Amino acid sequence: MAPVAMRTAAQSLSGAKPVSFWLDDPDKPAPQPALTGDERCDLLVVGGGYSGLWTALLAKERDPGRDVVLIEGHEVGWAASGRNGGFCAASLTHGLSNGLSRWPGELAKLEELGERNLDAIEAAVAAYGIDCDFERTGEIDVATEPHQLEELKEMYEEARKLGFTGLELLDRDQVRAEVDSPTFIGGLFDRRGVAMLHPAKLAWGLKQACLGLGVRIYEHTRGLDLVSAGAGMAVRTPYGRVFARRVALGTNIFPSLVKRVRPYTVPVYDYALMTEPLTEEQLASIGWRNRQGLGDSANQFHYFRLSADNRILWGGYDAVYPFGGRLSAEMDHRPQTYLKLAEHFFRCFPQLEGVNFSHAWGGAIDTCSRFSAFFGTAHAGKVAYAAGYTGLGVGSTRFGADVMLDLLDGERTERTELEMVRSKPMPFPPEPFAWAGIGITKWSLARSDDNGGHRNLWLKAMDKLGLGFDS
Ligand SMILES: Cc1cc2nc3c(=O)[nH]c(=O)nc-3n(C[C@H](O)[C@H](O)[C@H](O)COP(=O)(O)OP(=O)(O)OC[C@H]3O[C@@H](n4cnc5c(N)ncnc54)[C@H](O)[C@@H]3O)c2cc1C
Repeated sequence: MAPVAMRTAAQSLSGAKPVSFWLDDPDKPAPQPALTGDERCDLLVVGGGYSGLWTALLAKERDPGRDVVLIEGHEVGWAASGRNGGFCAASLTHGLSNGLSRWPGELAKLEELGERNLDAIEAAVAAYGIDCDFERTGEIDVATEPHQLEELKEMYEEARKLGFTGLELLDRDQVRAEVDSPTFIGGLFDRRGVAMLHPAKLAWGLKQACLGLGVRIYEHTRGLDLVSAGAGMAVRTPYGRVFARRVALGTNIFPSLVKRVRPYTVPVYDYALMTEPLTEEQLASIGWRNRQGLGDSANQFHYFRLSADNRILWGGYDAVYPFGGRLSAEMDHRPQTYLKLAEHFFRCFPQLEGVNFSHAWGGAIDTCSRFSAFFGTAHAGKVAYAAGYTGLGVGSTRFGADVMLDLLDGERTERTELEMVRSKPMPFPPEPFAWAGIGITKWSLARSDDNGGHRNLWLKAMDKLGLGFDS
């Protein structure tokens, strides 16, 4: 007979709909009609996730006279932008320690640009009346093991030395006064650097704002190829072509229309559960009055937060790389991961035994070996791309959109001068080397979690080379 905890976890999933909670919304806007025939414009944006939507919106804000078209292969926000945890972080570098290890000389600038970017998102949400449950609650990284607590303390000291004063170290009682789990032994609280939001409503709100500024959006319109055409570019779609002076690619993990960009990213599937709304008593049993986002500090980490109607989103831990980097609808669901996540949930919050999950889903993350976005141009500067956000793109895609527009406009800005913008990550090797390398790295990370954070020779070598694998 299965152990009691197992049975509870499985039962809690029995009614879970296999679809993103955020997209399962009767108010989801109808898609715009597909493109039929030919179109001409100044700027064509490919991709209707945050990257593409921010690019189109900022392009119109920079120059209202610019004629902008956006094509989306499926529906706006259906992919990562409608499935994520909704942690909208200021960090452009996938966290302070990743930024510090890669760009120590410009970290202060990157942090400042990141804060300005998050402020600008907050301002845009207000200005365009985007109803996306934006709450600037901050985030606590919690420690559940002594070595994690040591790492958080080191991070806190390091940040103070660099003059970043926005972090607060919490001891066991302080963290449990915020959110009460018997597994928490401390935390690092960033009060201003992260906001919580409803991911799909952000995408839908950006779409509405774009339409309001005159962007022409075509959904169910996949860009099939990209070729030079006279002084500009042409993109072929199933029922027509778009001729554009400039093209911005916000296509995330989907095969880039610029083929040489493809080896820089691999898809890593990440999964999440959503509970039913908690009752007042259930919520009181865990505290959580200040509604921050939380993440634990293991290599294989969980992230969790409240929705506007007091459900708990609980995601992360398993990061699944499909052989050959193949994207498939089948990978969007992984019951064995759902079960693992549910077990971990009840271990973290035993007070919530009996709570059910209403939704369970997954999505592909565009992982690159340096964990933060890279940028570039092709076709003599007429095409720009940004990709590789590696699980932290809710906020930083707006920054990436600005970079793409700087590059397309041929402008030297404080963004284009950054080493982070001018450099590229190491590409992933072809199969079977990618599969083997990622497999060894995942195995080593799991062992490190079970082994007081000790990093084996493989991880140390990867650290030295500045390479990694994350979700
Ligand atoms: C489960 C999960 C949890 C996550 N949690 C967080 C989080 O809490 N915080 C955070 O910061 N980040 C998180 N992320 C990452 C974040 O969601 C992404 O970084 C972000 O949404 C990327 O936006 P995007 O527009 O680049 O990509 P997408 O949202 O994937 O959009 C790309 C779009 O381009 C379209 N497209 C691709 N190719 C073509 C083509 N040829 N023609 C036309 N259209 C095309 C696709 O159909 C798609 O709609 C998470 C991701 C996942 C999957």
